[in-house]
Amino acid sequence: MIDKMNLSIFYVRIFRLSVLPVIALIMGLVIASTSLGSGAAEHQPTVELPQLQIRLAPHQLRLVEDPLGTLTVVDAAARFESGQGQTTERLNLGLRDGAIWVSLHLRNASRQARDVIVSHEYAPIDELYLFDGDLAQRAGDSLINADSPFLRRLAHFSVRLDANETRALLLRLRSSSNLNLSLSVYSPEYFVASETLLVGAYSVFLGAVLAAAVFLILSFFFYREPTPLALAGYLLSFAAYVAFLNGLFTPWLSPLVGERTNDLHLVAIGMLYGSGALFYRHALRLPDRHPRLDRWMLSLQWLGFALPLVLSVPALRVPAGLVYLFVTGVAPLINSALAVWLWRRGDSFAGVFAVGWLVAHLGALLNTLRIGGTLDLPPIALHLPAIGGAIAIPCFAWGIARLLSRERTMAYTDALTGLANRHRFEIVAAEEMNRARRYDRRLSLVVLDADHFKRVNDDYGHAAGDRALRTVASVMQTVGREADLPARVGGEEFAMLLLETDARQAAKVAQRLREHLATVQVMEPRITISAGVAELSPDDNTPAALLARADEALYAAKDAGRDCVKIAGEE
Ligand code: GH3
Ligand code: MG
Ligand code: MG
Repeated sequence: MIDKMNLSIFYVRIFRLSVLPVIALIMGLVIASTSLGSGAAEHQPTVELPQLQIRLAPHQLRLVEDPLGTLTVVDAAARFESGQGQTTERLNLGLRDGAIWVSLHLRNASRQARDVIVSHEYAPIDELYLFDGDLAQRAGDSLINADSPFLRRLAHFSVRLDANETRALLLRLRSSSNLNLSLSVYSPEYFVASETLLVGAYSVFLGAVLAAAVFLILSFFFYREPTPLALAGYLLSFAAYVAFLNGLFTPWLSPLVGERTNDLHLVAIGMLYGSGALFYRHALRLPDRHPRLDRWMLSLQWLGFALPLVLSVPALRVPAGLVYLFVTGVAPLINSALAVWLWRRGDSFAGVFAVGWLVAHLGALLNTLRIGGTLDLPPIALHLPAIGGAIAIPCFAWGIARLLSRERTMAYTDALTGLANRHRFEIVAAEEMNRARRYDRRLSLVVLDADHFKRVNDDYGHAAGDRALRTVASVMQTVGREADLPARVGGEEFAMLLLETDARQAAKVAQRLREHLATVQVMEPRITISAGVAELSPDDNTPAALLARADEALYAAKDAGRDCVKIAGEE
């Protein structure tokens, strides 16, 4: 019986252990199975020049594969001419290493000569050549000096067609990661307009992320709390990832680092997933609350940070691809599910977190699947991570703000009674005294001390003593007005600041408090309190001076036999 149980636990464990690699493997196979359509093409269709923009469809292109990258333009042209160009069913050929030749026929049906821009819509492409008759133009990461006036690096070429002309263009694409045929033909004006709009939108997004990160870094110095710092790291990596994806850094980076740009892109992705796991751990307090879950996130954190290294070892190419898919695809889904689970167990912050995490990473995941060729998503998918980020960041910001405000409340509140603590009392008392002096308003202070409280503890125990202190606190809250500030300023000592109140009225409040306390305590231990009252006088330069006079009155009350109220300066 026991053996059978052990065996079933064993199977469950094996199942759990195997399920993640299996998911990663299935995703890898789906990606690997992406292939070109076969069969020789009849003739090459022509593409009419668009008024604004046309996204090239698979049937408008013919392809010749060049996996070793050895074909010359003459070889490639000859192959197309002999009808060897293949059709393709999809524009995204997935993750592959190598080159591909694309034949494209443009036709200008108008009676005027026209300029158009042929643009490749995926910034991280390594190299792109356009052969237009004798003219060869080149773009991509390996292009050292981007001569484009546009702020983001998209490989694009200007082509001029005469009236009624049909032009055969050859493109050569090379990539060591994602080979896709995401191509568009634009009118030059529309290209300028859409680039300006995109760069503008991304500038706003990146500016907002940067501002949030600066704020979070500063708040780390004020609060000494690691969560804002982890979120700042995560946001900055997110911004870098999105910027690389859209070629926003590359015009500056390419001249400096050339083809290394792609490595930096990978570093940004590694930082994104590493710092994301770090933020996840701290935001949900996993090290303290769920050490086992924390171990899983910790492994994921280091796997994320190590991702660029793993991917840079050629021998590890296939396992590295699976690791990449696991870290960027499978893990965020599991993490979102875990956050939902924590939420269901009562951690309300985990709810906000789950939503933010899911939205942010769903965008990245969809984009990863698009890059892998698994999902044939339109080019808008490229912007999903930014859209997801824009939704997620307010969620995280709200969570952090709530976390900090909870800690602030804790720092100002007495844990036993829920009244203001001494720290808060001193701050508010100083403010109110200043105000009362400046505007010539009355203000009084009542200090209260439980009588013979040591005995209460000795006779009834510390817990009963605590209960009695809570009763005093609740009576103070009932008797005082809303503007008064009841506080616990010591072990069994309380204070109350009464605005717009003179000593006599304050003494009445203290008497009421004393009497009320006597009526609410029906069971032992019954305690009494003594109170000292002082009114703000022009001689009280500091809160301490007022407090000292109130304390004197309190001693007088103790001397007078306790369970009574005395006013400072009166017999
Ligand atoms: P007196 O009437 O002169 O004020 O006598 P007392 O016994 O109240 O005075 P004293 O200041 O000597 O003792 C205060 C006691 O209050 C000592 C301490 O054990 C008890 N006390 C302080 N803080 C707490 C607390 O948070 N909970 C409990 N249960 N007891 C406390
Ligand atoms: Mg005392
Ligand atoms: Mg006492």
